Amino acid sequence: FTGKTGSELLTEKIKKFKVHEYQSVPIVVKESVSVYDAISTMFLEDVGTLFVVDEHACLTGVLSRKDLLRASIGKQDLNNIPVHIIMTRMPNITICRKDDLLLDVAKQLINKQIDGIPVIKDTETGLEVVGRITKTTITKAFVELIMDEHL
Ligand code: ADP
Repeated sequence: FTGKTGSELLTEKIKKFKVHEYQSVPIVVKESVSVYDAISTMFLEDVGTLFVVDEHACLTGVLSRKDLLRASIGKQDLNNIPVHIIMTRMPNITICRKDDLLLDVAKQLINKQIDGIPVIKDTETGLEVVGRITKTTITKAFVELIMDEHL
């Protein structure tokens, strides 16, 4: 018996969660797609954040719901605005890697006040987008943890 309390054990467990154990599939669009098509993709894929990639599938930007809403106010033709005009772009994007601690990524979501963070893999051509961590990921991890405790 270790002498540790239940809550100490629980805390130790949470602190070991890694990004790759919880990441989900990223939904990406190319820089050249229109704002209109990005909105369609967001609905069809049922996500709140899209990651924008170049021809090498490397990260160049992020599109949130509000980015797309903002671009939709006004009289512009959404078919004629490419997403690279309105996206939040590198190097101002918060990223994470598969071996990062989930807790550190959760803190980033709070501190930066964002809904999602891309999981990237370093390649010769840039940062390849291989997954995503969102507020939903953290909610799922939280519920799973509590449910497992009661098995
Ligand atoms: P919304 O704008 O729909 O509330 P977010 O809170 O996720 O969604 O996004 C707020 C702003 O931060 C947007 O302009 C978005 O482009 C940007 N953003 C979203 N995710 C990231 C990220 N991982 N790194 C940097 N900026 C981001």
